[in-house]
Amino acid sequence: MADGGLCSFISYLVNLVLFDNGSASNAISAQICKPLGLIFSNKLQMKRQLLQTLTLFVILTSCNNNDKTSKNNKQTDNQTTETQVSVREPNNTENGSIKGNFGGCGYNYTPSENAIDLYEPRPRELSQINSILKFSGLASNFKIYSASIDNAVATIIDNKRYILYDPKLLSYTDIKSGNYWSSMSILAHEIGHHLSGHTITNKGSNPKDELEADKYSGFILYKLGATLSDATNAIRTLGNDVGSTTHPPKSERIKAITQGWNEANQTRYNGAIPPPPNDNVENLCEYTSTMLIDKEYIIADEDNSMYGNPDILYGIITEVDKDITRLKIHIVKSSQSFNEGFRKIDGEDWDVTIDNNNWGGNSEMDHSCSLNFSSFFVPGRRMKFGMVEGYPGCGTSEAGHWHLTYAKAIDGNKF
Ligand SMILES: [Zn+2]
Repeated sequence: MADGGLCSFISYLVNLVLFDNGSASNAISAQICKPLGLIFSNKLQMKRQLLQTLTLFVILTSCNNNDKTSKNNKQTDNQTTETQVSVREPNNTENGSIKGNFGGCGYNYTPSENAIDLYEPRPRELSQINSILKFSGLASNFKIYSASIDNAVATIIDNKRYILYDPKLLSYTDIKSGNYWSSMSILAHEIGHHLSGHTITNKGSNPKDELEADKYSGFILYKLGATLSDATNAIRTLGNDVGSTTHPPKSERIKAITQGWNEANQTRYNGAIPPPPNDNVENLCEYTSTMLIDKEYIIADEDNSMYGNPDILYGIITEVDKDITRLKIHIVKSSQSFNEGFRKIDGEDWDVTIDNNNWGGNSEMDHSCSLNFSSFFVPGRRMKFGMVEGYPGCGTSEAGHWHLTYAKAIDGNKF
């Protein structure tokens, strides 16, 4: 890692994924790093997801690891008082242990323990880590153990990568914030250290690496569906107001998480579902056809057959155009009546039109709801809705155009 800026960083990530142990494969590094394009066309074609993640990390870190890692290596050379660290991994019958000062990147401070016991990880944390890795597109090549260390740590011992966490700490932050996003962000932060190729010595971390790992956690939490407040909960609970030589103050760390979260928010990713907007669905209008459809068409629908009783669907708005005339909706569930009248479209992404010449209805209330499209139709909105194809009397000219006829915001978990 010490000698090659962008290329060594990329080859480091390639190593991280393709090789089980952490030994840097410099020969491969030299070969694959000549033309950058070669990596993309040969080595990584089969690993499309890895490519996306590499691109992400190039963007996230600008690959400025060169100077930093050289400096860190020098520090390590100068401070050769490292004690021998040995790891005994736990198995089904007995606990494991780490003997010696293992250091590494702790979530909030550098660990200083000289001996700890290791336990098999709980299924909950394993599943959380798997979710994080799924969204980063990388395979796990680190070992995960639970330990009583009141911390979460990314460390490398004997060229093997470890993530150690204290289940009590994760539970504490989750209970305090009332959801599981806090532990998610702590684990994502530690994974971020490994995936960003930070040089982890037993001398602890440095503020720049910490902010990179924080930014990564914000980025990945957005992709997992967390709100900004969810993504910053853990650091607001556990962070220190004053920075140390290894960890920045929490104000800076909140900024870094926010930056990562915003970057993910501004970039379109296939399959990413935006988190719910930060508002109270009870305060939003329930939109009916008179607020969503032009008066002429409502009148043309003499027998009320098109706009009368919508076949209900459930979905999440993933995109809204500038003028709020077109939505992209990820369909979560469609009602039996919709399925029978058309077909089952669960899991599909649909373009739906909003009639911007809408009528506004007869009442003040209807009118004001019509003027409030911009607060309702936002990416991430979970809603119950109705849509019909075409307009009454329009023949086939409107075939394939689906118009919104009903919409009611719902809480994210109530599909
Ligand atoms: Zn850290």
